[in-house]
Amino acid sequence: MTAAVKRVTVLGSTGSIGVSTLDVVARHPDRFELFALAGNRSVETLFEQCLARQPRYAVMADADSAEALSAKLAAAGSETAVLAGEAGLVEVSAHPEVDTVMAAIVGAAGLEPTLAAARAGKTVLLANKEALVMAGHLFMAAVAEHGARLLPIDSEHNAIFQCLPAADDGTVGMAGVSKILLTASGGPFREWSAAQMAAATPDEACAHPNWSMGRKISVDSATLMNKGLELVEACWLFDVGADAIEVVVHPQSIIHSMVQYVDGSVLAQLGNPDMRTPIAHALGWPERIGSGVAELDIIDIGRLDFERPDVARFPCLSLARQAVQQGGVAMAQLNAANEVAVAAFLDRRLGFTGIPELIENVLERAESAEPTSLDVVKQADLRARELAQELLADAQVG
Ligand code: NAD
Ligand code: MG
Repeated sequence: MTAAVKRVTVLGSTGSIGVSTLDVVARHPDRFELFALAGNRSVETLFEQCLARQPRYAVMADADSAEALSAKLAAAGSETAVLAGEAGLVEVSAHPEVDTVMAAIVGAAGLEPTLAAARAGKTVLLANKEALVMAGHLFMAAVAEHGARLLPIDSEHNAIFQCLPAADDGTVGMAGVSKILLTASGGPFREWSAAQMAAATPDEACAHPNWSMGRKISVDSATLMNKGLELVEACWLFDVGADAIEVVVHPQSIIHSMVQYVDGSVLAQLGNPDMRTPIAHALGWPERIGSGVAELDIIDIGRLDFERPDVARFPCLSLARQAVQQGGVAMAQLNAANEVAVAAFLDRRLGFTGIPELIENVLERAESAEPTSLDVVKQADLRARELAQELLADAQVG
């Protein structure tokens, strides 16, 4: 018997995760139907995706891009309808005919549509870690209240999900677990001195040794803020404190994370570093489906190395831990300051080691508050961005 076809919305279809998602979906036309694709302003890429995949809807971030896409699609005889802006993203995320939403927009821009999918009780495949870091409390409450199913796409969290004990309904818990071991590749600067890192360029920071990713997450991997954000993400996803999570540097990126049990057992998930594995795991869940990823040749890999992270050279890791311990809107402020710092670094307005300095300064100055509503979170996010911009304008950087 074949399972019912799942209708899928892909938020961020033109990005790295989005393209990998379309690749996996195309391997299983009997299982998945693309309902909507959404990108930012890359009209040409979304146009080509629409012609090839024929989704019911396409969404662009602004009205001008939407108009341009709409005209091109009409001229090509396509029946895909084009929507614009946050309202369009929310519509295709919460639409009653949609089963599964791949949340793969980068940064805070993904929060509203991802939250809308949770509130509509969808199966949410979460790549957009920033949404959870910003508003974890509200997000997890929406998932519980509306019966949504949250499946992690981040390779580490997907690995942890696979290694945790599961109940009959598929939800995972922490029974018998003593510790989560969150693995990190260490990024391109794992062996660089602090002085070398101070002079690092955007292209050097984006040259990740194992993964091919968007530029923002690539810089996060170089500062280890990606691991910091993932620490926060794991706390929310698995309902544990930061003390239950140890970061382990594993340069080969073959083990994607581990779970340690009270009896001394450690379970790990291994695989080639290709995001189509966690994407296929979550798309097919609870079944296993093909992903197109080559089989792991463990003999060829030969060895797996592990080391402790160096928090002196990579202070972002400690900043994230502090933000979890502080609670309230500190995690939203951490994320906002990081987004501004990374954008400034990519624009060559801030040096690489200026990234953690700027974030630390913002966190010291930002006011604390309880994240009681989305408005409170958005205000804290906005204020942290303003503070970061003010500090950037004052700083002698470049
Ligand atoms: P990317 O930069 O390649 O793609 C980002 C996507 O978001 C693009 O489709 C872009 O058009 C869209 N987008 C950006 N701003 C938007 C806006 N304002 N409105 C609508 N759409 C917008 O990034 P990526 O590497 O695919 O990462 C996406 C998310 O997945 C990030 O949150 C990242 O942390 C997470 N993630 C990525 C990887 C990876 O291997 N690439 C791994 C784990 C987690
Ligand atoms: Mg990851």
